[in-house]
Amino acid sequence: MKIAVAKGDGIGPEIMQAVLNIFDANKVGLEYEYVDMGKWVFDKGFSNGMTPDAQKSIEELGILFKGPMETPKGKGVKSVNVTARKTWNTYANKRVFQSLHGVDTVFSKAGINIDITIVRENIEDTYGGIEHMLTHDVALGRRFITRPGSNQVIRYAFEMARQKGATRITCGHKANIMKLTDGLFLECFYEIAKEYPDLKSDDKIVDDLAMQLVVRPDQFDVVVMTNLQGDIISDLCAGLVGGLGFAPSANIGDHISIFEAVHGTAPDIAGKNIANPTALLLSGLAMLRHLGYMENAAVIENALLYTLEQGVRTGDFGDRSKTAMNTSQFADAIIANFGKMPASNARPMLANTPFTPAVCHLDRNPMLVTREAQQEKIVGVDMFIESVEQPEVIAKKCVHHGGTKFKLISISNRGTQVWPTGSRYTNLVNQYNLRFETLNEMPLTQQDIIGLYVSLSPDFKVCSLELLNMWDGKRSYLLAQGQ
Ligand code: NAD
Repeated sequence: MKIAVAKGDGIGPEIMQAVLNIFDANKVGLEYEYVDMGKWVFDKGFSNGMTPDAQKSIEELGILFKGPMETPKGKGVKSVNVTARKTWNTYANKRVFQSLHGVDTVFSKAGINIDITIVRENIEDTYGGIEHMLTHDVALGRRFITRPGSNQVIRYAFEMARQKGATRITCGHKANIMKLTDGLFLECFYEIAKEYPDLKSDDKIVDDLAMQLVVRPDQFDVVVMTNLQGDIISDLCAGLVGGLGFAPSANIGDHISIFEAVHGTAPDIAGKNIANPTALLLSGLAMLRHLGYMENAAVIENALLYTLEQGVRTGDFGDRSKTAMNTSQFADAIIANFGKMPASNARPMLANTPFTPAVCHLDRNPMLVTREAQQEKIVGVDMFIESVEQPEVIAKKCVHHGGTKFKLISISNRGTQVWPTGSRYTNLVNQYNLRFETLNEMPLTQQDIIGLYVSLSPDFKVCSLELLNMWDGKRSYLLAQGQ
């Protein structure tokens, strides 16, 4: 079977070589097609950080094993890592954090065993990078949480939890504050949970989750989260088991999957052959299991665990009184330990059942839609304007703009209502939200909204607008703080 391999930037080529040497020494039956991705590809003028040939190979092979890649700073280019995950819809980011014997942490010293799998939504949320400066002082980012996107990752998490033999699955969220976005994710979680009565499903507000993970990490099993919160919490979990050098990552999609370490290119130690290849090796082992190379994965992982138990280390971890090995020596030590079993957490030896992923060739982009609203009506609009005037002055100016169709309901600044009621102690920035609603409960049209925009424009610069809809009698927007 052939997979695409991108060596990456910084320490990428060194740790990738170490891992592939381990695979080859264990006679894993994989062929590698090396593809061009990373900073040097950006530098050659490919704005997405990969060549068209690389994209074609990855789409044909369906599996990408990649080293870390650098995002050039300040050139307006997006991260190739994020682009790859989004382009190929690898919607579930799975990260396994397990205590490793030989990697001392405060928890291992206290005899607390950690085995947490974080499944992070990988495509949506603020990672869409849809951000605008509304005024010189005000930046606005859009956060997309969708029902189909949430369903995909949550269903993956439940299936994976069942396969893993997990007993508990927890949804981390902030739905108490972000009621529509995180609220939708949480709603999808409990909807899907009904299909998995064998698993204990619960939820935790993300700040409480962070605290609980630090205080009692052994109470968690599988945790599923939205993208940004999952990004932060998964690095916290990496810290619980010894740092980024031990954090693998699998980006799973329906057609293409990407396996990589969580850490970056480590420019401070690049080219010195001293980086720790363990995180990339663990990611590679997840890839071998994903492809059915169960026996190879078990032999290599047991050798890795045995090696760690012997106190063998690279410079970033372990007993500082022992000499650190370099990257290739560390890989050789693992190879020399093939066939050895660790004293704790030995992986079961299952037979190889390799399979080639069926990469179906798509001639159109899949459209994911769940259910359309039966009844939809526009009942108002939020007009985001630039102004340095006081709220009551703005309100006065708006009186004649409403005409026969709209009434001004509230004015808010950074989400806090400042008119018709509010407080003089609310600091203002030069960007307001004027909320207009329909005057006579009559549904509004898009032309009505444009009419209001045109009417407001001589008095205010309208930076952005958002429709206020009612779907099947339910409000599709939140009230401002204090409204
Ligand atoms: P980093 O993870 O590269 O480094 C943070 C610290 O951890 C450094 O001190 C580094 O030496 C150490 N470190 C990381 N991996 C190590 C390893 N395998 N062995 C030993 N020590 C290791 O994070 P950063 O410095 O914030 O990012 C550097 C670059 O990597 C940036 O351009 C960033 O965009 C990129 N990055 C890429 C990915 C990815 O490809 N998935 C992920 C994160 C960061």
